[in-house]
Parts: sequence; C-alpha cells; structure tokens
Amino acid sequence: MIFAAGSTACPNCEKPLDSTEDFIPIETPLRTDLPESGFYHVDCFHRLPNRAQYLEYFRNRTQSYLESQSNVWNVLEIHDRYSVAYVPSIDEAFIFFIASGRVVSLSCRGPWAEFCDFLLDYELRDELTEQNRLKGPWISETKLFALKPEPPGGFIVLEVRNGVQKMLRFTANQYERLKQVRADVFSPGAFIDFADVCSQTSIAPVLVDGFLENCKGIVTSVDEKNDRVDLRFVAEKWVRIPLAVSELQELINVLQRVS
Ligand SMILES: [Zn+2]
Repeated sequence: MIFAAGSTACPNCEKPLDSTEDFIPIETPLRTDLPESGFYHVDCFHRLPNRAQYLEYFRNRTQSYLESQSNVWNVLEIHDRYSVAYVPSIDEAFIFFIASGRVVSLSCRGPWAEFCDFLLDYELRDELTEQNRLKGPWISETKLFALKPEPPGGFIVLEVRNGVQKMLRFTANQYERLKQVRADVFSPGAFIDFADVCSQTSIAPVLVDGFLENCKGIVTSVDEKNDRVDLRFVAEKWVRIPLAVSELQELINVLQRVS
C-alpha cells in the first residue's frame, strides 16, 4: 500500500488524508468478511461493522509474522493484547497494540527508554486505579508521550508523538519574497507555520506534500536547484490509543518484563 498525503483517501468516508493525521493502515487479503485495504481515520475504523473480524485477523497475522521474524528480530513478547519486538537493523522497538489494531515504533536512541520510564513511573503504577481514572496525579505529559482521561468512553488515552517528513516546493522568486518577510524561514532548525507565512505573503507553493494548513514544523533541509527550492521539514503527528485502566495496567506489566 502506498500513502500519498493529500490524495490517498479513507475508504470509509472518502476524505483525503494528510500524513500528520492519526490514521490506521489496514492491509487485508480479498475476503468478504474483512474491511478493504486502505488507510482509515481512527473514528472511521471504529465505526467499521467488521472491525472485530479485522482485529482477530490482525492478531493472528501479527503473531505469525513475529514468529517468522524471530531469527532476525529480537521478539520480546507475543501476547493476545500486546506484542513487543526489537529490530536491530534500524535500532527501533515495535509495540503491537493488538486490541486496537495499531503499531507504534520508537527509536532505541532515546524514545524507547523514555516511553518505559514514562509508564513505569512508580507513582503512576501506584495511583492507577479505576476510581482515580479521571483525576490522579498520574495524568501526565512529556514532550513525546501523554496520558489523558477520556470521560465518555471510560478510557485513558495514550498519546505518542511521531515526526512526519514533509516537503514544500517554491520558485526562486517566491523564495526571495519569503526570506524578506521571515528571514529564518529557510533556516534548518527553525519552527515555521508555513500556512501562516504563505498567507501573509500571498504565496502559493508550487508543490505541497499534503495540505498546506498541516504544514508546520522544524526545517531540516533546503535544496536550491535552477528555478526551484525544495524545503523539507518535520511536522508533528500524535497517535492516540484509548486504553481501559486494566489494559494500561497490562501494558505496564509487559514493559516491566521486556525493558
Ligand atoms: Zn474516514
């Protein structure tokens, strides 16, 4: 499956998706009892009538895939609710949230250890009870992770921040005009809201990766070639996974075993 920001549409609502949105990739064989392959909005996924069948398929496929990779990957846990594997070639840990149909990958150069520290916090484990779900001093947030109560569903939402690479292309003329308005717009490391800067200057980029309104982030590189300037940046994306208190406790137990 290939994802193209701004043109790949959710099969359920047919609205195009941006790479910064929280969506679920679903890859299924042609089977009438399973949803069609595609990238679904989280809410659209939850409304699928055959969601339960898909989750069962996802659980079986994940399990057999991890078993087949066990001589290449370091498979730390295969479980009905969570599986965890470390992939040495890219130095990343993968957490499979089986009951949600989601996979989160974290670099082992920082974020993985931070994730374990975040959830294995002594106070959090102590205070995490159904009665404390909505208050608790443990409702916490770091730069990369957050736990927030979601009152209507009775869940605690685990939020994980991911970075998404995006690109904008300008003409050389637009490039000069933008620099006059905002000198640091093409400086690696600068945080820029491009929708805002472009609207101030009435500039429409030649090429937008996804939707311009989602183009805000930290500039990583600028490539000037003939009459065009390609600007790459990392935009923020939050993956949200609702978990019941017992599910979060189980995740903490898994992390205790594998970290
Ligand atoms: Zn949708």
